[in-house]
Amino acid sequence: MVALPALTSVDNFFRSQGRKSVQQDRSELVELAANIRQRAGLGEPPFSTRIMIDECFPDVYVTGERLPRGVAESVSMGKRGPIIAYNRLLTTAQQRLSIAHAIGHLVFDRDDLRGHCKATPSDERESRAEFFGAELLVPLTMFSDYVRRWRYPRETAMRPAHLNMVDQLASHFHVPQSLIHRRLAALGRYRKHRAIEET
Ligand SMILES: [Zn+2]
Repeated sequence: MVALPALTSVDNFFRSQGRKSVQQDRSELVELAANIRQRAGLGEPPFSTRIMIDECFPDVYVTGERLPRGVAESVSMGKRGPIIAYNRLLTTAQQRLSIAHAIGHLVFDRDDLRGHCKATPSDERESRAEFFGAELLVPLTMFSDYVRRWRYPRETAMRPAHLNMVDQLASHFHVPQSLIHRRLAALGRYRKHRAIEET
């Protein structure tokens, strides 16, 4: 693996990327997420958000806060640099996903950090941050390899054996089960089951 130069700020990260941040192309987001994990030296899950921040975004301050109900995180610009605040009431797995989502905002929306995330289905910024956060913690290519080992038929999607697998994958990647369900849906594993309740 090629050694990458040390980064000292989000700005340096963008300079190293040649400012491709406005790209909407999903394959570029996947590549960028892989780049962050590589720079952080993270090869195997669970991928540490702490190490990603320390290695790629050292000027970012991450802190827990008592945010309003339903708000998972906020991203704002403080005097010394960007601040990611996650909702302290969330589980650790949810906090990790919130921080990964917030990293997405830092990467793509840093010129206009709006604070609390208020997701609507048509909000492209939110869906991009959500996609990026999911890809950061559960890379779909790697996830697909894990899932393939189980070899279960789709028809058993809500049976205990399947839910056990979801739990194990959630533990392995240290993310909420709801994200595992969404990743399985992204792989086309849920033909009949559209909506999975958030956990
Ligand atoms: Zn957001």
